[in-house]
Amino acid sequence: MTLQITSAFDSGNIIVESINGDSASLRIAKDHQSDFYQWFHFRVTCEPGTTLKLAITDLADSAYPGGWQNYDAAVTEDRMEWLRAPSSWDKDAGTLTIQWECESGSAWFAYFAPYSYERHQNLVADAASCEGVTYRQLGTTGDGRPVDCLEMGEGEKQVWLYARQHPGESMAEWWMEGALAKLTDPADPHARLLRQKCRIHVVPNMNPDGSVRGHLRTNGKGVNLNREWHEPSEERSPEILCVRNAMDESGVDFAMDVHGDEAIAAVFLAGFEGIENWTDELGDKFYRYQDLLSQRTPDFQKELGYPKSKPGTANLTISTNQIAQRFGAVSMTLEMPFKDNQFLPDKQRGWSPERCIRLADDCLAVLAEMIDEI
Ligand code: ZN
Repeated sequence: MTLQITSAFDSGNIIVESINGDSASLRIAKDHQSDFYQWFHFRVTCEPGTTLKLAITDLADSAYPGGWQNYDAAVTEDRMEWLRAPSSWDKDAGTLTIQWECESGSAWFAYFAPYSYERHQNLVADAASCEGVTYRQLGTTGDGRPVDCLEMGEGEKQVWLYARQHPGESMAEWWMEGALAKLTDPADPHARLLRQKCRIHVVPNMNPDGSVRGHLRTNGKGVNLNREWHEPSEERSPEILCVRNAMDESGVDFAMDVHGDEAIAAVFLAGFEGIENWTDELGDKFYRYQDLLSQRTPDFQKELGYPKSKPGTANLTISTNQIAQRFGAVSMTLEMPFKDNQFLPDKQRGWSPERCIRLADDCLAVLAEMIDEI
């Protein structure tokens, strides 16, 4: 039986160059009308017990070549538990080679454990059915999908949590699953406090078109949504236009934008240094959030992260900066790794959906702890 390889499903992405015995040579398709590529997701079927050798080639020009160093691909055979398949990076050739002994005869490989559109719909339906939760469709994407928002809480402070502007960063929606589970739990004390003091707006997937199409970084029109916040348009970025309009209606006191980072093997936050409206008082609230989160969970750290922008040089096309500047909000970007937390590694699973869910719990507990300061 020869290998069969397909990506003809939700968020699938692979091009098969050749198959030779137990080995295959593969490539990743670019995002539609864009040069970004890094997300892959495909199924292999084979004789049970085959040791697969899958070479993903042509990666020197991928979006983040540094993402392949010390990276192991995500794999599942039972479609429940995602493990890591030992992978080796040949930088000179630009090739990632994944090795996996496929016991059952079917295995799914992905850049990170996928968060399917079916699961997204279940997430929205489950949350919307909880007491005190209101569902709102904020707008419609270019491909005709709803931009879903869940709202809850009776307080004055406006909290916005939104994720997956970059659709290949599926860890962001696993985080959202943890966040919504906590926020809708009537027995959870942090959630009770937050719902008492805040109105919470949750957009679990900002970019459903890119997610379904198997994109890394853009929507169905090939637009990087996190470079549109200064001037979103119906033509290019209806997802951002409708969310920013809803934010203009409600105002924003606290915002978290949830992402994944290809290269850095750690969880970190990025703030809004460099905005014109920067004040130390506002900035200190962000730093205090960061301090409290690093004290609360060993899965979060402050040493590794992005360089801070110099005064007056913040990029206002990026949501975190735009929201801090526009609303005077405590605004931040949460980054989780595709690789692992290098300070607390898990060889078998790497950074995993389960760890995203736990992290969301800690992030909201810290928000509850300092909500009176925001
Ligand atoms: Zn991102």
